[in-house]
Amino acid sequence: MKSIEECKKETQAVHAGIDEYEFGSVVPPIYQTSTFRFKDVDHGARLFRGDEDGYIYTRMRNPAVEAMEKAIAVLEGGSHALGCGSGMAAVNTVLTALLSKNDHVVCSESVYGPTTTLLSGVFGKFGVRTDFVDTSNSDLIRSAMKPETKVVYIETPGNPTMVVTNIKEAAAIAHKQGAYLVIDNTFMSPILQNPFEMGADVIIHSLTKFLNGHADVVAGAVVLKDPNLYPQFRKTLNQIGGVIDPFNSFLVHRGIKTLDVRIERHNKNAMKVAKFLENHPKVSWVRYPGLESFPQYDLARQQMKGPGAMITCELSGGLNAGKCLMNSLRIFQLAVSLGGVESLVQHPASMTHASMDKKQREKAKITDGLVRLSVGIENAEELVEDLEQALKLC
Ligand SMILES: *Cc1c(COP(=O)(O)O)cnc(C)c1O
Repeated sequence: MKSIEECKKETQAVHAGIDEYEFGSVVPPIYQTSTFRFKDVDHGARLFRGDEDGYIYTRMRNPAVEAMEKAIAVLEGGSHALGCGSGMAAVNTVLTALLSKNDHVVCSESVYGPTTTLLSGVFGKFGVRTDFVDTSNSDLIRSAMKPETKVVYIETPGNPTMVVTNIKEAAAIAHKQGAYLVIDNTFMSPILQNPFEMGADVIIHSLTKFLNGHADVVAGAVVLKDPNLYPQFRKTLNQIGGVIDPFNSFLVHRGIKTLDVRIERHNKNAMKVAKFLENHPKVSWVRYPGLESFPQYDLARQQMKGPGAMITCELSGGLNAGKCLMNSLRIFQLAVSLGGVESLVQHPASMTHASMDKKQREKAKITDGLVRLSVGIENAEELVEDLEQALKLC
């Protein structure tokens, strides 16, 4: 029989991390406990020394968390995954595990807002310097590298500009001087982009988004390719304390089972919505990797298996028309976050990327009129109708 690692993504999504359980239960039980009883004092001591395998305390290990971690590691083709309490806890764990004082980071300028401020603020305070560059131009990564660069951190497609970074080239540049390539793969999920196959060393997910997919959990994950990095990462997460709890792990693991079918619908719906917007006279531009007008269409097709759910656009009427659109939609809900079954719309300059100052936003091309859509799995024609009625008013 094939191992789960050898199976296709559709099968992995349903079966990875699933074992055999008491009473023939098909679904893993949730061990909703903070701590685990030792058989006697010597048993406890053996567990703490690592001489015997077993559970001690849920911040360190829990069976429901491990089941979800296994599923994510298999889907990404990594050696290990670590469940975290949020996507930002995952970002923090990775940076803390890899960086020391006086190290240097090269980071995409179009990344999740709080990642920018974490690097420049918190890590800056502890003596880590970061250069934010347009990583869609590999030459700019190359020229930003310094002898003390330890991490190249990319997000592709970038949030919210959708600019695509060439993962293979970024990996080659990082590895040339022994730096790690870290990639936030939240926008694509393991169904649409497999960064380890292109040379990445560490993958980050906000599980809050596509992997859970139902807008009812905040969680994150770190995935590692090299098993030798695992002990250091586990220790860091245990010390930071940014862990996920058993019940949320159960929900994320449940969500992952439908990841592949959800992504298929997200792709189809977003393609229809993007085409509609592109042909609408009140829309000045649309950026969606599935459109032939997308500036990096060929690169996107090479390294992504589908265009995904995220679309950005700007109306000819600029910020005011964009506000009107966001206030007039009925099926699309005005809320931040993305990757859930429900369609959402939001305004990056005043919401997800408001923590960046205006200069940083301008440099990253996050204009005030930019509107971001996360296209859900509803009926595509009805999503288009919703946009049509709202655009009539604006
Ligand atoms: C949401 C998001 C994060 C942060 O995740 P949380 O679960 O909200 O902490 C990081 N990166 C990307 C690309 C995101 O969309």
